[in-house]
Amino acid sequence: MDQGVNLMERILLLIHPEADGSLPKSALEALGAAAALSKEASRSVWLSERATGGGFVATCGAQRFLGVVGEQFAQARYASDAAAAEALIKTSQATVVLAPATSRWSRVLAGVAQRVGGRIDTHVTALEAEEGRLCATRWYYRQRMFARITRGHRPWMLTLEPGIAPPWQGAAGSAQVENVAVALPDAMRRTTVSGVQAPAADQQTIRPDADLLFVAGAGWTKNQKDGKSHVDEAAKLILGFLRASKASLGSSKSLVDLAGEGQAVLPFMSHLNQVGQTGATPRHPKGLSTCCHGEEPHVVGWRFISERRAVNLDPNCGWAQGKADVLYVADAFEVMAKVNERL
Ligand SMILES: Cc1cc2nc3c(=O)[nH]c(=O)nc-3n(C[C@H](O)[C@H](O)[C@H](O)COP(=O)(O)OP(=O)(O)OC[C@H]3O[C@@H](n4cnc5c(N)ncnc54)[C@H](O)[C@@H]3O)c2cc1C
Repeated sequence: MDQGVNLMERILLLIHPEADGSLPKSALEALGAAAALSKEASRSVWLSERATGGGFVATCGAQRFLGVVGEQFAQARYASDAAAAEALIKTSQATVVLAPATSRWSRVLAGVAQRVGGRIDTHVTALEAEEGRLCATRWYYRQRMFARITRGHRPWMLTLEPGIAPPWQGAAGSAQVENVAVALPDAMRRTTVSGVQAPAADQQTIRPDADLLFVAGAGWTKNQKDGKSHVDEAAKLILGFLRASKASLGSSKSLVDLAGEGQAVLPFMSHLNQVGQTGATPRHPKGLSTCCHGEEPHVVGWRFISERRAVNLDPNCGWAQGKADVLYVADAFEVMAKVNERL
């Protein structure tokens, strides 16, 4: 085992490629986390009829590469994904099973844990080997407290949150992939994916991989210096900025709640954008808050935003109370118009 880590575990990493055969970033991050834990002990597996990921991860130091190959495993489907994961776990005799928390794995792995007599912990944000034991970190109570957990029961399955480890990088190579045969009777093929309905890329405002989180608060809809609200202009400025910067869009609760109260709102905002105690806790290197007061229940959701800046007219707003690295006391309409011009 490398780095002096004496972790007596057989680790299986489950990864699956995207529809185009590439590996999702979260898979490479999970591979980075597994490799850091113990390169030699990690085993890498992917699930697809296209094994193109093999060349890319070949040099990750895994002892074995197992694959479930076949057209019927290409699409996400509970029955076939669960059967494949179960077969991979049994073949590898893994004691620890890691997987990125993609929607595909998150959907099936709790059921698979049941089938293989294992235990599962989800939303894991860190893995460490401590005195020969595997230790996982996970947050509780809306990201306010974290716990470091160990378990005696095996197999122990853990799904890893995106953004918790640097993506694995290495030279291309070629790996010997052992095919794991999985019988798939008709009863397991009843569900088929007939198509995907998704908003166009530029309408999709939640972008977990973006470098910047841009947060809009209720101030965008409030009466401005001329005594009137300028919601249309606010929408243009926000969407213009998102288009040019490819930032992810977050919101305060007040702004998304306004729709329910029948007030003028920004049509592209929903509760899915809400950041905070009762909202999401996104992970981005930087965050820019505009027209948002920066109250504690909102700022709780900024826990994983490293560098924080805010634009607010009020020099005594919440951001000024040590919650932002930089506060621009300025009119966000003017600031964002200038920023968009420059972009
Ligand atoms: C149990 C509980 C859970 C909650 N959970 C959440 C949550 O998950 N997420 C969340 O966001 N909130 C949450 N809240 C609500 C939270 O406390 C705040 O009420 C909310 O975040 C306020 O939203 P806001 O800052 O957008 O609006 P406001 O408080 O109305 O602030 C608007 C800001 O815009 C500024 N502004 C106005 N015009 C301009 C301009 N032209 N340029 C610059 N600045 C301008 C004003 O100075 C003001 O600071 C929760 C509250 C409770 C009690």
